[in-house]
Amino acid sequence: MQRLVLATRNRHKVTELHAILAGTGLAVDLVGADAYPDIPDVKETGVTFAENALLKAHALARATGLPAVADDSGLCVDVLGGAPGIFSARWAGTHGDDAANLALLLAQLSDIDDAHRAAHFACAAALALPDGTERVVEGRLLGTLRHTPTGTGGFGYDPILQPLGDTRTCAELTPSEKNAISHRGEAFRALAPVVAELLG
Ligand code: IMP
Repeated sequence: MQRLVLATRNRHKVTELHAILAGTGLAVDLVGADAYPDIPDVKETGVTFAENALLKAHALARATGLPAVADDSGLCVDVLGGAPGIFSARWAGTHGDDAANLALLLAQLSDIDDAHRAAHFACAAALALPDGTERVVEGRLLGTLRHTPTGTGGFGYDPILQPLGDTRTCAELTPSEKNAISHRGEAFRALAPVVAELLG
């Protein structure tokens, strides 16, 4: 069976992509990057989600000699011209400090009323082959930003993003409800037939 490496050490993402690929009927042996512990982390020097996803996928494909999938995602706020965008994970300075990132963003938007709080989560999902072949697709989850965090599920900016057409925040959705509409789910579902075409 064809092995496919996913550029994450996050087991949740491996499980999520596995479920989406299984839905296409494609049989691949999907493994996380932690199966290759000696591979160094890649610097995300791109200026778009797609560039960073491709950088990570190519680096992993080169290092392992196997087809590789990577994703990059973030929150884009209309009134901030698309920021935090690729800087979402380190908006307040420290990479991965979700609470500080969320607090800073809310402070920056404190004077902005509901009519102008449109935002979306964006995700680029990339496939790279060891011969340099590449594909990248994108997914979005559109919504508006609350003034105060609500809900205990999810991570990152989930407690303030209310998807269009819902009255709850992403942090109040079940994981399967969120996967069904999320930027990552949409991007991975779009990538699945591309993986099937190139590896099937
Ligand atoms: P990464 O692409 O997994 O590294 O995510 C980058 C950052 O974007 C995260 O640290 C979060 O701050 C934000 N982000 C991406 N996807 C989501 C999501 O589904 N919910 C909440 N925050 C997200």
